[in-house]
This record gives sequence, structure tokens and C-alpha cells, in this order.
Amino acid sequence: MAIDTDLAARVAMQYEPATYRRRIAGHDVIIHCHHYNARLQRTIEGARGIDGKAILVGAAETVFADQLAQAMRAGDDEARRWAVAEQLYRHLGFGRIDLSQIAAGVVTADSSHFVEGWLAGLGDAAGSVCSFTEGYLQGAVHAVTGAAVRVREVECMARGAARCRFEVDHGPREPIAADRKDPAIAAPREPGAGWLRSPNVDEQAIIDAVVGMPMVGDDAGLIPAFSVYLANMPADFYNRICIGFVEAMRGLGRDKAAIRLLVSDAEHCGMNTFRGIMHSPEWDGLIAPMVRDRADALHAIIAISNALGWGDWHVTAHTPRSLALESRYGYEAVGYREYRGLAATPQCAMLTGVAAGVMELVYGEGTVEDRYGTFAAHEDRCVSCGEPSCNFAVEQVE
Ligand SMILES: [Zn+2]
Ligand SMILES: [Zn+2]
Repeated sequence: MAIDTDLAARVAMQYEPATYRRRIAGHDVIIHCHHYNARLQRTIEGARGIDGKAILVGAAETVFADQLAQAMRAGDDEARRWAVAEQLYRHLGFGRIDLSQIAAGVVTADSSHFVEGWLAGLGDAAGSVCSFTEGYLQGAVHAVTGAAVRVREVECMARGAARCRFEVDHGPREPIAADRKDPAIAAPREPGAGWLRSPNVDEQAIIDAVVGMPMVGDDAGLIPAFSVYLANMPADFYNRICIGFVEAMRGLGRDKAAIRLLVSDAEHCGMNTFRGIMHSPEWDGLIAPMVRDRADALHAIIAISNALGWGDWHVTAHTPRSLALESRYGYEAVGYREYRGLAATPQCAMLTGVAAGVMELVYGEGTVEDRYGTFAAHEDRCVSCGEPSCNFAVEQVE
């Protein structure tokens, strides 16, 4: 396929060293794997008594309508705008959508990050699984034409179809919600004095190497790396679905259970992603020579996660049985402030779960399921509550 340098420039990633943020077309993006994304979807859509699918679809349409608008240029004709929509989806790692029949109300997809995630970890699907793509397409139609439509998946590869097939319904519906945020925290506080480092681990070299890796979709729109499929997900999407899920569950008196579920998904994610990374040629080539003991592995993993956009977080205390971390500018806390203002309780479920998962991976034994739950993590203070940083404590479970 010929490279379209104009489109490539519009979706090029910029890394901000001061905040460890990755930015594409005006949106901070977070690199996560297909296990995490599929698990989050199952958690939110599988909860009884709430419309979890509507939370996912609504978040995707709002966020991608905005990101696509930022990737478009005033002089683009309609064909060019559809090309931007196909390109952003593929570039971010979500798969490949074919918009050539969109005027007839039909979209097909022959590869899908979410189908891969579902089939890899969650078994047979009871129905179509591409809620995310439905929302993306609704956002794309809005960005290209200004219309608010409903997109429904009628055939899905997760159910054995040769390709996923979507139909566009132009019937009346409410307008697409704007991605409205209030700027809350312009910049993180100054770097902490109490951050622990390993003399063996060159964190900056690791960050530079990972940031330099081209983590963009291949021809099929997938990013196979580290034995998982990665994707560049806008932080706004994660924040909108997680805040929306917890608030919907609060209506049923189950918001604490909702946060526990989000933490659990991240705990699995931390182990799956980093287990893949620790068995990759990239790890063997760059990182293994720096790792003398398990503590070194932990410092290397935290450096990698900062390059992936997860947290701007740092080790403040560490033994084989315990870990303390400080995050100045995690996307969950900053996003909560932008969308909702001050929180009453800490909000960083992803970092909390990953903190436990990393300790389970570095110090545990056996399969992911054997290790799961052997460490417990808690967020003691959070930027979302007005604190200068988020602070996490992990302890081995007796
Ligand atoms: Zn599908
Ligand atoms: Zn926090």
C-alpha cells in the first residue's frame, strides 16, 4: 500500500517527556492490550441492571467525533474525510473498516482488535462484540457529515462471520454529545525527591526505546507486539466509560463493586501485558542485560509503563512483599477532574490494579490465575481528590 504522507502526518504521535503523555490528533492516547480492552468491555456490558453497551457506544462516538474532527482539514472533500476515518481507526490499532459503501448504509470490517481480544480470553460470544466499532462509526459519520446516526452490527467475526457487518440507521435520535472538559490541572507538580531508582536500570534508555518503537496498526490495522495485540486508546474513552460505569452502578448501590471490577481487570492486564513484554525479543535485547534481580525487573516495568502513557508513576518504597508508588499525572485522576471536578474518593482503578499485577508478575509463581489476588493494592491519596499526587500501596496477601 502506498504511504499517504499527508494522512500519516495528521495521526503522527507526539510524546511529551514532562508528563509521559502520548498524543495523537489532539488526544492523549494510552497503549493497552486486547486482554484489557475486551475485559473492560465484558465488565461494563455484563453488569446487570445497567445499559453498559450504551456507555461504550456513547463514549466512542463522542471521543472519536472529536478526535476525527481534529485530524480533518478545512480543505478536505468528503472522500478525504472518510479516508481520514478509515486511517485513524487502522493507525490506532483497532482493525480495518471499509467505508466504501457508507453511502448505501453498509460498513464491513475484516479485522478487529476487540474480536481478537474477545476470542483470546473470553470464549464464545453470545452476540456481536463490536460495540466500540459501532460507536466509532457513529462518531465518524458525525465528523464527516454532521449527522447523528445509529450504527448496528448485524454480523460479527466473533460469532463466526467472515467479516463484521454494520448497518447505518438515519432515523431520529438525540444529538452526539460534545467531549466537554474543563481544564483542571495544567501540569504535574515538580518531580518528587523520594523516587527510588536502580543503579542497574537506565530508565531513560528504556523510555526512549519504547517511545521509538512504531506502535501503529499494520495493514490489517492491528499492532501485534509482546505476544499481545496493542491499541492506542484515547484516555477520554477510558475515562468516559469508567466514570459512566461507576456512576450507573452507584444508582444501584454498587459503585464500590464496580471499582473493584475495574481494578481486577487492570490487575489481569498488568500481568498479561508485562508477561508478554518480559518474553519478547525487545526485552531480551535491551532490558535483560540491565536486570540483575527482581527489583531491577520491577523498575524496568515501571519505566515501560511510563512510555506507554499509563501514569507518570514512580517507585517510592519497595520490598519483595510490598511496593509504594507515586503518580503525578495519571490519566484517570486528571480526566476525572476535567469531566467531574473534585472527587470524594480516589479514582485510579487502572493504576491500582496494575500496581498489584506488577508485583504478582515479578514476585509470584505459576500462571496468571495462580498469581491473581496474591497482592492487594490500595490508592491512599488521589489527584482527583485535590491531592498533589496519587499514592498507591501494595502488600502481599497473607
Ligand atoms: Zn464484530
Ligand atoms: Zn489517583
